[in-house]
This record gives sequence, structure tokens and C-alpha cells, in this order.
Amino acid sequence: MRTIRSGARKGPRISRRTFLRSGLGSLTALAIGSWRWPSSARAMESVQLAVFYGITTEVITERPLAGVVITAGPYSTVSAEDGSWRLLAPPDTAWLTVNLAGYISMSLTELNGSLEAPSEIEIVLIPLNLSPDLAAAIDAKYLAGSGSGIHAPVAGADAVPAVTLPTQIRVLRNFPADPTTYDWMDLEEYVRGVVPYETPPSWHPETLRAQAIAARSYATSGPYHENADVCRTTHCQVYGNERYATTDEAVAATRRSVVTYNGAIANTFYFGYCIGRTRSSEEVNPNWHVPWCRSVPCDPCVGNGDYWGQGIGMCHEGAQGYASRSGWNYAQILTHYYTGISITPPQALEVPVTITSPLNGAHLRGVVLCTVALEGTPEYVDYYVNDQLAAHVTAAPWEMRLNTTTLADGSYTLKAVSWSGVAACESTVTIRVDNTPPSGTVTTPSGWLGTNVVPVSLTWSPDAVGVRFSCNWRWEAEDPAIRHHTGIIELDGAASGGKTLTGRAGTDLPGDWYGPYYCGLPLAPRYLACFRIKTPARYPNVPLTGLYVKDTAGQRRLGGRALTSEDLAVDNTYEEFVIPFDYSSANGTCSVPGALDGLEFVTNYLGQRTLSLDCITVFEPNLSLAPVVNYIMPAQEGEISLIIRLVDAAGNYAEFLRQVTVDLFPPTIAQLGADAALARDTVSGLDASRVWWADSTDGGETWSTWKPYSPAPFSNGTTEEVKLGPPNGAAADVRYMASDLAGHVAFTRGVNTNLPLVLRQC
Ligand SMILES: [Zn+2]
Ligand SMILES: [Zn+2]
Repeated sequence: MRTIRSGARKGPRISRRTFLRSGLGSLTALAIGSWRWPSSARAMESVQLAVFYGITTEVITERPLAGVVITAGPYSTVSAEDGSWRLLAPPDTAWLTVNLAGYISMSLTELNGSLEAPSEIEIVLIPLNLSPDLAAAIDAKYLAGSGSGIHAPVAGADAVPAVTLPTQIRVLRNFPADPTTYDWMDLEEYVRGVVPYETPPSWHPETLRAQAIAARSYATSGPYHENADVCRTTHCQVYGNERYATTDEAVAATRRSVVTYNGAIANTFYFGYCIGRTRSSEEVNPNWHVPWCRSVPCDPCVGNGDYWGQGIGMCHEGAQGYASRSGWNYAQILTHYYTGISITPPQALEVPVTITSPLNGAHLRGVVLCTVALEGTPEYVDYYVNDQLAAHVTAAPWEMRLNTTTLADGSYTLKAVSWSGVAACESTVTIRVDNTPPSGTVTTPSGWLGTNVVPVSLTWSPDAVGVRFSCNWRWEAEDPAIRHHTGIIELDGAASGGKTLTGRAGTDLPGDWYGPYYCGLPLAPRYLACFRIKTPARYPNVPLTGLYVKDTAGQRRLGGRALTSEDLAVDNTYEEFVIPFDYSSANGTCSVPGALDGLEFVTNYLGQRTLSLDCITVFEPNLSLAPVVNYIMPAQEGEISLIIRLVDAAGNYAEFLRQVTVDLFPPTIAQLGADAALARDTVSGLDASRVWWADSTDGGETWSTWKPYSPAPFSNGTTEEVKLGPPNGAAADVRYMASDLAGHVAFTRGVNTNLPLVLRQC
């Protein structure tokens, strides 16, 4: 332990407060001030009250002050003409507040109320507007006595602690008589009790703020005693039971702000006044190197004949001069007197918090990232689910991953509590956990459809909220269209198609899986790309992958997100992650045949954790549920696979694979001579039950009604070209009509053998 004491500190240790109060006579009898029963007196009749009494005086002049309002909760009194007052209040009253117009409001604690004996409390008020003489007298009394103890911390003088600002410190109760008994005190409350004893509460607000930070830094840079951080005396910093509105403001405005040097809380010495220059630590002791205590000019002190205190660190007279005459703020003051330091930003009394995700009422599945908006920097944010602590978060981005698969389906209250160091704020939302897929049935037409509008019949369980379609936009990761230059294709019974693409951590180099450069997706503003992935071990949390939708040869990103391993809910279990993307414009891609610039789906295999990609499926956005939903497919013909999902509000789904057959166009049919035709339908084929003929006996001027051609001269559904010849008994001119299995009809007009007579004459 190395201790350097200021010479000015030698001799009897008299607190400044005692000094200010000297000359105040002691009361030999209880002065009867005016007091009144509280408004709720009847309810308190049984409460036993203690007597508090004293005299209110003005600082320096010691003039008695009348009309001072002294309040303890619902109890209050007013001082008499001679300044005397008397207040009945519960013996455990913690605070008295004191108000008088024209004076700085104040409060007092440590009242020592008792039912056995009255408690005397002296109250000294400071005018708001000081005469020059009064100001000078106050300065003189404070400066000749202010200053921190000049000594290194008890353990390891040069071992500077890291910045871990406590919320409570140990303060010796009665040093030096008792060097061991201490109280845990809230740090900010302690600082509130130091500033008015080290600097006059009437000083400039910026000086008081500088002093608040210096007092806070000093108190937390110790410990300065074997058994406690600080004492209440001039050995460290004077702490007392009085508070002033001005000094309280300075403490609140700098809440939890401290001076640091190289990232550690600095021992911020301060003293009364100097001779126009402060001292370096080596000037006091050549062996003591405190790098932030260098000798700096102190203009307001120029002309002083001597120092008060050792002259190390912040000079009070100088600080007040710089603030009041040069307009310096507290940061300018502190960085002037402490060389090379930083000042940590003040923290708000409360840090209001709002849960930004999930939204109130959200239905949730899998792992949910919970995020908050904070108005300030808290010490921590705690997340609770139904009042059970779910996460204790001590650093930005203050988020939590909630694995809802560890909860039963149902409603929960999600609460975020931000703790500023003194006060808590909270935000609450109600969430609904749902990890159970909906159920239902999906029925598509069995025969050929003549249009791309597919009527789909649905039934669904009550939790379903929509149906979504994929027109077979599914790419298996093992498909060569998905390129991989790292990882292997493995057999995997849990994977769609029985195979998966796996990047093995520690074996396969990081790299992207990408493709297929698809150009068939109709332009639309909203699609959902669903990547189905798994990892064998989610913990500890590491960056796992990035999932992206791109085009323009990978240059344009249409959607995407990064995932960490803990974004997956269960080890070694496939889970889908949905990437919404906007494909309103092809951006000039897909215009050059063979160019690799169409849509691609990119999976970053990062190499930190084994990752498997099963498949990627693109869906159109949800359609509303109805007994029959008309799904408008992109126009195409033939046998088409649809992937249909019933989805619930949480994103769980039931998947149905359905085939539909579509024939968009009628058969081709062409007249062959006067009485025959050639017909063909290459998609659904010709319908043998729907073929007709009509004949004309007047050379094509008029035609008979259409008559069934039965039996048809072809097998039903043939996609070959067939020749339709005149049935028995038909007239010389015959025309034909045929249908495909999708119901499209086409016919020939026949040959009008009369009209071309003119031509024949030629
Ligand atoms: Zn001490
Ligand atoms: Zn000075």
C-alpha cells in the first residue's frame, strides 16, 4: 500500500459542513414550529410519530430563515420567524425535503428518527442568486478544504482495474474510529452525497457536473481502504446527508459517467486551488507516475500565492473559472485537467424498451429472433417467457433467440426488461406458440383441363390461414443445376429425393452452392424461396449460412438472410427458412440463350459447422382459403406437378403433391378435298365421343346440322393425325368438327363448290 497524503490534510479532520455550521447555537428546548396533521391523519391516528426539529439558516450569514417548508411524505411543517421548526413524522422517515422561494431546494437523509428522543436536524440553505460578497465567502470556505484524498488504491497501486462500473460501493460508516464497518451504497446516491460537500451547490452547473464525474470515478477507482472502497471523510471524499437540487442535477446529468484512461477508470484527484499551474504526480512524489495527472495551466488561478491541496488533477477554482467565465463544459474541464483521458457517456435514468419483434399477437414456430428498441444503453436486458427468465443479455444487439419447440403450443407473455443501473423499464407482447402443422385435403381435377385456371377443392383444419402453390418450382440440391464446388452429395433418407448436399466442417472448404439460373418464373413482386437445411449440432452459436435469391449472374440480390446455428430449432433435423423476394423485373436477364444470368438460389456454406441443403422450393404468396380455390398457373401444357401447401399463421404447413393435365389449345383440323379432313391434337388427344360431320347438297351453300360421327375412326385420346372420311350416305360435300379431351372444339368450313364457278369459267 502506497499512500501519499496532502499536507493540507494534516491536522484535525473537520468536515466542511461542520465548518459552515460553526457558530450555530444548540437548542436547549424544542422550538414549536407550525405543523399540521397530514390530510390522511385519521387513517394514521394509530401511527406513532417521532419528533424532528431544528433551525433553518442561510449559508455564511447564518441568518434564520422563516417560511421554509419542510416535508416528509404526507407530513410537513413551516419554519417560524426565528428559523425554528418541528415536524412529527414516522421514525423511519428516510427523506426530508426543504423548500423556500429564492433558495436552492434541498433534501436530507440519515435522519435518525426515534420515538425515544427528538432528532435535531440543522438545515442550511443557499440563495439562488448570490451577492458577490456571499459568493466569495462561499468560495473561500469551500476551496479551503475541498479536494480528494491523494493516494493510490489499496491493492496494487499500478494495477489499474478494467472498467466494470459497479452499481453499489462499500462506504465506511465511521472512519477513522471504525475502519471496518461499511455500508453498501448505491453509487449514484453516494455521488449525490459527495458533490455538495466538495463543491458549493451554487456553482456553475458544468463545474458541478465535472465534480460529479470526478467523484464517481474516484470512488470506483479504488478500493482506498482495506475493507471498503471509500470512507466518508476527507481521507477520500466527504460524504454527507444533504442534497441540493443543483448538485443532484449534476449527478443525474452525468449518470454513471466516469473518467477512463486506457480503458480503465481513472483515479481522478482534485483539489481547491493552485497558482496558475497544476502539478504532475511526480512533483509530489518522484516515484509516483499517474499518467493522466500532468502539469497543466490553470488560468483562473493565476495570481494565487499558494496551493490548497497537492495540486494534482482537477483544480476546483480553475474549473469554476473556466465554466463561469470561459463557457467550458464539463468534458472540456475534465479533459483539460486529466491528460489523455476519455469520459464514458452518461446513462439515462431509465432506458425505455420496446419489443420490436415478434409483434404482439404473433403466431410463432421454430426459433424466433426477439429484438428490442432501446432509448439508451442499459446494463442488461432480461427476457421473460411467462415470467420465467429466458435470457440475460448484457451486450448489443440485445436480442434473444427463443426456441419455441421447447414450449408447448399455446399463448405466452413475452417480456423484455431493460435495467439502466437504477431503474427498470419493460415491454410485453403476447405470442402464440404453434409448432403443429394444419391438416386438410386438397383435390385437383383428374381429367384434362382446357385452361391454366385450376379449380382446387380444399378442406382444412381451423388453424389454417391460407394455401400456397408452387408450379413445380423445386430444385433438389443434388440436381446438377445446383452447382457446388465444395461439399458432397450424400444419401439421406430424411431428404426430399433421398439425397442431400453436405458441406462437412473441417473437411470441405467454405463456398457457395448456387443455381439453377432459372428463367421460367413469371414476373411478380412477391415470391417465397424456401431453403430446407439442417446442421448436426447447433451449439455453440456460430454463423451457419447465408441464404440468398439473386439474378444477373449473381450481381442482383432479390432477397436473403444470414443464419446462425441456433436459428435452427433441433439438431440434425431439416427445417425450412423462407426468403421472400421480389421478381417484378427480370432486369434484362434471361434474354441471351444459354447465359447463366437467370434466377439462382445461393446457399453460403461457411465451413464453421456442417451444413446440409436438401432442396429449394419457390412458392407464390398465400391465397385465401375457400372450398374451391382457382389457382392460375403459368400457361403451359401437358402433365404438370403442383406443390400445394396448407399453411397456418405460424408458418407450419401440410404439403400435397398433385398432378394436373392441361391442354390450352383446340385440335388442328383441315379440310381435305370436298368430303374429308385431317385432324390432330398432340396434347390431350382427340375425343372419340365428340366428333361430328355435316353435309351439303347444294355445293356448300347450305349445310346440314352437325351429326355425331359414330363410331369415330380413331381410338379415344389419340395424339396421331387421323383422317376423317365421309360416312355412308353423306352428300358430295362434307365438313367435320372434332374435340380434344380438354373440350376444345375445332371444325372445317367445308368447300363451297358453287362460288368458284366464276373461276372455273376463266
Ligand atoms: Zn478514506
Ligand atoms: Zn487552479
